[in-house]
Amino acid sequence: MRPIRTFNVTPTLPASLAPLRQLAENIHWDWDVGTIDLFKRLDPELWASSRYNPILMLSTISQDRLQAVAEDGGFIAQMNHAMGRLEQYLKAQSWYDAHRANPTANECYAYFSMEFGLTTCLPVYSGGLGVLAGDHLKTASDLGLPLVGVGLLYQEGYFAQYLNADGWQQERYPINDFYNMPLTLERDSQGNELRISVDYPGRKVYARIWRVDVGRVPLYLLDTNIEPNAPHDQDICDRLYGGDIDMRIHQEMMLGIGGVRMLKALDRKPSAYHLNEGHSAFLALERIRMLMDDQNMSFIEAQQLAQATQLFTTHTPVPAGIDLFPPEKIFHYLGHYAARFGLSHEHFLGLGRENDADNDAPFSMAVLAIKMASFVNGVSKLHGAVSRTMFGGLWPDLPVDEVPITSITNGVHARSCVAKSTQQLYDRYLGAEWDSAGIDDALWNKVSAIPDEEIWRNHESCRSHLVVSVRDRMYKAVKERGGSHLEMERAQEVLDPSILTIGFARRFATYKRATLFLRDVERLRKIVENSLGRRVQFVIAGKAHPKDIPGKELIRNIIHFTRDEGLDRSIVFVPNYDIHVARWMVSGCDVWLNNPRRPREASGTSGMKAAMNGLPNLSVLDGWWDEADYVATGWPIGNGEDYDDQDYQDEVEANDLYELLETAVVPLFYERDGHGIPRGWVAKMKAAIRLNTPAFNTARMLQDYANLGYFAASDRGRQLVADDYAPAKALAQWQSELHQHWQQISIAEIGLSHDVDLQVNEPLQVTARVHLGHLQASDVSVEFYQGGVDVDGELRGGRATAMVYRGQDPDGSSRYNLNVAYGQSGLQGFSLRVLPKHEHLSSSYLPRLILWADPDHVRIVIGNIESAPGLAQVTA
Ligand SMILES: *Cc1c(COP(=O)(O)O)cnc(C)c1O
Repeated sequence: MRPIRTFNVTPTLPASLAPLRQLAENIHWDWDVGTIDLFKRLDPELWASSRYNPILMLSTISQDRLQAVAEDGGFIAQMNHAMGRLEQYLKAQSWYDAHRANPTANECYAYFSMEFGLTTCLPVYSGGLGVLAGDHLKTASDLGLPLVGVGLLYQEGYFAQYLNADGWQQERYPINDFYNMPLTLERDSQGNELRISVDYPGRKVYARIWRVDVGRVPLYLLDTNIEPNAPHDQDICDRLYGGDIDMRIHQEMMLGIGGVRMLKALDRKPSAYHLNEGHSAFLALERIRMLMDDQNMSFIEAQQLAQATQLFTTHTPVPAGIDLFPPEKIFHYLGHYAARFGLSHEHFLGLGRENDADNDAPFSMAVLAIKMASFVNGVSKLHGAVSRTMFGGLWPDLPVDEVPITSITNGVHARSCVAKSTQQLYDRYLGAEWDSAGIDDALWNKVSAIPDEEIWRNHESCRSHLVVSVRDRMYKAVKERGGSHLEMERAQEVLDPSILTIGFARRFATYKRATLFLRDVERLRKIVENSLGRRVQFVIAGKAHPKDIPGKELIRNIIHFTRDEGLDRSIVFVPNYDIHVARWMVSGCDVWLNNPRRPREASGTSGMKAAMNGLPNLSVLDGWWDEADYVATGWPIGNGEDYDDQDYQDEVEANDLYELLETAVVPLFYERDGHGIPRGWVAKMKAAIRLNTPAFNTARMLQDYANLGYFAASDRGRQLVADDYAPAKALAQWQSELHQHWQQISIAEIGLSHDVDLQVNEPLQVTARVHLGHLQASDVSVEFYQGGVDVDGELRGGRATAMVYRGQDPDGSSRYNLNVAYGQSGLQGFSLRVLPKHEHLSSSYLPRLILWADPDHVRIVIGNIESAPGLAQVTA
């Protein structure tokens, strides 16, 4: 029988427990171990069965239990303590207050991401990208940055993984019950749901707005699952990365365009927009349209202003990882923007093409994001270099090392990934600031003073906790799929809490090579079953994308292998990897293994989490590990070689892995002193803690984003809109003229005081005559570009120095000069180039115009040139 009406009946919270609800509603609890203890104490079983969801717990807990804790003085005291900590946290003086010079009133940075991994009970993330975005928000809150997150709220989130008896991954999509999650619906002043709409072909799609309180930072999530949207429009927020290419465009329109409209509806006026990956790049189109409509700007003016205040972080080291859409689909969905901008079909599509004139090229979200940003970064030093090559085509005339894509290495939020007992150990010996202290902070010297015994006993207890938790999860998984009693028994006997435990957990994409360690069965067996009793076990976890059949095959191969070889107690696959499982693993394993095909791992973050828990890493030199101290804090697999033959690479690197295990890892772990302490091992643990915690935490990362990105973008934006947008309009006018007249520039003559041979550091005077056509000397920078010449006769790794303008010749050409010298011997060379220059241009590379002297046409004059006294001498 269908009910006439349904009610959500919740327990009544006794007045004295009111702070519990406040604590539950701000997910600050996720990284406050004391508050987690409080929820656990409230009802340990319910805490686990609610998937660590205090909101759900408060709406399902028995009234009797609430009455009991309301009369428990100890509980009330612990609760009031937690509440005091939250209040203190929310109003504390912050890094931002101390470091931001002259902020505008209500400064605000909007951070757009397709996924956010904050805590286990908010399953709107798939993996590393989401967890990084979640850590970004948590740390912005810690530092007091005025940041707001923007994303989508998925009805089904990302899938839950389970394995059938054959080891084949199955997906389940639990429905998210938003009313029982740490979410608050945004309402207008009349108490109605606040709504926005986005134009899709032939219709509007509406969305409401949910807020997650992440400490002091709000995360706003759009939800299309409402009337009057048609069912297929309600489905836009159905699944993260679900559906076909049309669905992907629908989602990305809602994120980018809907996100901008949402911020407006919330009366937020961001001074900087940060695109975490290219999914949200349509936001640039909507911002331009709004500036055109509201401020009466031209397309170029609006585009300049939008670009000056946008930042883009790319996470993808391979072209296949980038969202590419067929041009006709982009035009179908977004053609109205082209009309509003007054752009032709091809000009509009060119915004998402590396080469504007290539009419067949697909539309790339990453290219759109880059063209619309004034700050672009990769997520590790190596990935920055890979990205400069990958996107170098956007600046075909620029040396690849100068391509304006920098890097800010990822980090992890320390209080979210370090085990509770370990945090308490650090708090005691290092002081509570360890979670954000910089690498030069004297606090790190105290790591050596932590007694080895304490570090080791604590770690052994983390390992025991891991083993117990894995057994429990395996048991439940077998039970749920109706496994036999024998299987359930075996599930409770996996792993040994006292032996060397190697952890491997990440998405099961083939390039991550989860099965590399299985390559030589006999050698692996000898390592695992070590005849001297120095045994080794592996804990493995990770999901394959539902459509990634080869990824799923890897999981099945592991399951079959361990069964066939009788190694299923020592090599264990833990189902349904999520934030919670990750936390056990990165604290309870002894070594963190990673063996991707370099350079496909843009950064990787789970190894950082492990390092902060004191785990040495054992990893291929890729992503973050390539820039870490991989000798002091772990072991490198290989030497950072690149291979063409993949099978050969697997062979070499698997061998290297076995050899490291046999000769380095296992001996060091089992070398104990009279007290049973592996002193050498603990030394490596301490080095990992001391060196990797400050280098790879998100406090450092967010400070980098603030100092290099948010502050500068906000200041640029503020300057451009001063005087009723006059500078923005002037910049746009200048850009138009620049593009119009650029072709008129020519480098006519170069004068040198010497001919061919020079001594190191010998002064060389250089002059140049340049025809600027309709442009002024103040519009350009003429640069001397000097460097070594390689075997192909090309200038490599050169350095540019601006020449000094010396006035105009009677024939109208502009004269420049400079004194230089070469600090290095060998075959050296130079060229001359011209780049645009304007006080409001955030970088001279943005117009993507550069003119190099043509060796075949420029006139060279030797000797007898006008000398340049008083010029600083430049040596390279
Ligand atoms: C940290 C984390 C990741 C990312 O790990 P990588 O090493 O970057 O692959 C993925 N999923 C979860 C649940 C995590 O906690």
